[in-house]
Amino acid sequence: MSLSDWYKIDEVEDGIFVVEEPYHVQSFLINGQTHSALIDTGTGFRNIREAIKHLLRDDVIVLNTHWHFDHVGGNVLFDNIGISKSEAHLIEYDLSSDVLMDIYVKPFMELEIPFPDDFIPEAYEIKGSKASFHVKEGDKIDLGGRTLDAVSLPGHSHGSMAFIDSNTRSLIAGDFIYKDELYAHLEDSDLDEYIDSLIKLKQKQDAFKNIYPAHGEYPIQNSFIDRVLKEFQKIKSGAAPDRVIENFGERAHFYQFDDFSIFSKMPGYKGVKLIDNI
Ligand SMILES: [Zn+2]
Repeated sequence: MSLSDWYKIDEVEDGIFVVEEPYHVQSFLINGQTHSALIDTGTGFRNIREAIKHLLRDDVIVLNTHWHFDHVGGNVLFDNIGISKSEAHLIEYDLSSDVLMDIYVKPFMELEIPFPDDFIPEAYEIKGSKASFHVKEGDKIDLGGRTLDAVSLPGHSHGSMAFIDSNTRSLIAGDFIYKDELYAHLEDSDLDEYIDSLIKLKQKQDAFKNIYPAHGEYPIQNSFIDRVLKEFQKIKSGAAPDRVIENFGERAHFYQFDDFSIFSKMPGYKGVKLIDNI
């Protein structure tokens, strides 16, 4: 299986390339005149750097939206990595095939989600990586002729970051918002933070016109923020869930809407801990 059979690469805006691992995750490459920024590095099933090498400028910066494994799987292939300070230590852990099997490979295979043809679950592991710098709200990342504005959006995880490309007015949103199952039920998720971040993003929406998320369809119009905010606020005021579900050994509330859904913590529960000892 060649790399191009796994990564679907497409220029979605001027100088912005989606690097898609279908049914799994989307990373985004943004090219300035002098620097490339790769926002997230995917599952690490295959070599993302090799897949995009023909597009890369001489200087490459990796920006992680957050520490979750399907966003940092290819970090080890790069040496200039930025992530929020509060999550920097979390990318340093090696994730073994046993851990990845339990939290990802097995459940996704049960759902019959495709993996690379030659994928060997026992050989899949993610090596820890080290942050070279920390990214925080208001940082401007100069790529030469274009700038990325860092926006702190805690909620899905405490240290989640997103990036606005000034040239095309695009928001690269990570797992904060997408038309799929929104995870606010993890141990490092927080409903109040999520709502505050959605309000903040709504106030900033003149700065971008399209949202490019890490999962699900893209682009999303920024009016979607209002709908998600409204539903999160209803959850906060105690709206009854559609179902109580069992997820990774813990119960969570599940809310289904037209084109997205939300997992939230049950009152009094700590939330799902994906990986022990981290
Ligand atoms: Zn995530």
